[in-house]
Amino acid sequence: MPDSRHILGIEGTAWNLSAAVFGDDQVIALHSSPYRPPSGGIHPREAAQHHAGEMKAVISEVLTDPSAIKAVAFSQGPGLGPPCLRTVATAARAIAVSLGGVPPLIGGVNHCVAHVEIGRWACGCDDPIVLYASGANTQVLGYLGSRYRIFGETLDIGMGNGLDKFARSKGGMTHPGGPQIEALAREGGTPISLPYTVKGGMDLAFSGGVVSAAQEAQASLEDVCAGLQETAFSMCVEVTERALAHSGKDEVLLVGGVGANGRLQEMLRTMCAERGATFYVPERRFIGDNGAMIAYTGALMLAAGQTLPPLAESAVNPGYRSDEVMVAGGIAVPMRPMPWLM
Ligand code: AMP
Ligand code: MG
Repeated sequence: MPDSRHILGIEGTAWNLSAAVFGDDQVIALHSSPYRPPSGGIHPREAAQHHAGEMKAVISEVLTDPSAIKAVAFSQGPGLGPPCLRTVATAARAIAVSLGGVPPLIGGVNHCVAHVEIGRWACGCDDPIVLYASGANTQVLGYLGSRYRIFGETLDIGMGNGLDKFARSKGGMTHPGGPQIEALAREGGTPISLPYTVKGGMDLAFSGGVVSAAQEAQASLEDVCAGLQETAFSMCVEVTERALAHSGKDEVLLVGGVGANGRLQEMLRTMCAERGATFYVPERRFIGDNGAMIAYTGALMLAAGQTLPPLAESAVNPGYRSDEVMVAGGIAVPMRPMPWLM
């Protein structure tokens, strides 16, 4: 008889402490508590303190029936290593131990792969080229030979971090800056021209554009925001299009918090229409960091027989790359973390 019990997933690699219960091919519960820095950007230790303080409330909200949980999954990396990752891993271990069972802890959910998997599930797409554009990460990925290969990625900062840094450089914009830049850019007339940096055809760099935008003293803030968006998004669309052409795939999936941006979605949709590809973007609650992506990917891993012995191999991995994960037929199967990691 199939086991209809559910997976609890916990995410907290950066700004969002979020937990979800996934089972019977649906998100049964999802609850989040975002960390909002009073000033400046995300401070790792303060974010971890926020996560620790909110953990009980967030988990309690989704864990209404502990007897229905067959496994606990958590985000192992990449992320704000030690403080945030450890806080979440410690909570996951404690819950797994308290629930008992054989072996209840699924470690090793790779945060980036989880973004891709929940996006595929939510959109019903099969084998996409993925633009994963978030705060700390910006990658163009595609499944090839049992892994999500990184066709191109940022060589300096993540696109979201770049937008947030620019916003902080202009008084009056609080963290996160992305949505405010989007609103201002919509009012903009002529986007200013900024450094456009695609390296080797596939890799990206955002810091030059961000610094130039921050130093711009003549143009209106609206025009600078529009220029920053047009430049950074065009770079991403160019690399995504090249990955699509090289791989021969015919789907594009947009995930990560910056994916909420209507202009980025519009630019990718246009590129896909011109190439005869289909564009997908998941609903808002599954775009940025969320617990459902961890619970769902945990469910895939459990179905593939992947669990970690409780405690022994559940070390966090701040530098865990998406292409380290073996992915078989849509099932995310993690490689073991390196022994030196905490
Ligand atoms: P994530 O780490 O995937 O949750 O993404 C967080 C990032 O998404 C932050 O850097 C935000 O500024 C950015 N973000 C959220 N909404 C938008 C938006 N509408 N436009 C651009 N960036 C956004
Ligand atoms: Mg993320």
